[in-house]
Amino acid sequence: MTPDAINRLVAQLARLPGIGEKTAQRLAFHVLRSPPEYARGLATALNEVVDRVKLCNRCFSLHDGPEGTFCQFCSDTRRDERLVCVVEGIADELAIERTREFKGRYHVLHGVLSPLEGVGPEQLRIKELILRMQSAPIEEVIVATNPDVEGEATALYLTKLLKPIGVKVSRLAQGIPMGGDLEFADQATLARALAARRDL
Ligand SMILES: [Zn+2]
Repeated sequence: MTPDAINRLVAQLARLPGIGEKTAQRLAFHVLRSPPEYARGLATALNEVVDRVKLCNRCFSLHDGPEGTFCQFCSDTRRDERLVCVVEGIADELAIERTREFKGRYHVLHGVLSPLEGVGPEQLRIKELILRMQSAPIEEVIVATNPDVEGEATALYLTKLLKPIGVKVSRLAQGIPMGGDLEFADQATLARALAARRDL
């Protein structure tokens, strides 16, 4: 019989996304076989994430600064505060940041509108975005939600809220991926690419 401590570790690991019971067991035994410092380091890292990482009060990105301070993006005065990019989650923010093309600020919604899953505007950081509009000189909001049904619905909802305030609302262009092939692009993507064509 497996010791209870191992069963508890396997059960916790199996709750991670994409990790089934078998993988959880494999990971647990890997931890057991590793030097004790590794497991202790892992436990410390997990504790630190829980204790120190929090959401920025302004844009809802993650940061580990003192309570009441803003994240690296909000506190960087070199970034253009007139430009705000709205993303679904932290991973999207990091993806845009990796391009090194965006020098504005962010606003993380922490999800998208999804009536089927019971996610309405009040479950997202939408109210906070509107409040932000009133306290900062924001001129343009780039809606960078995913180009799927829920992402599009969220973009439309935000546009309806933001346009009357007098702020410019833009959406990331959609089209043929770099290195892609027109012949194999699906109809919707090709139609979007045509509609979003630009002058040369
Ligand atoms: Zn922030």
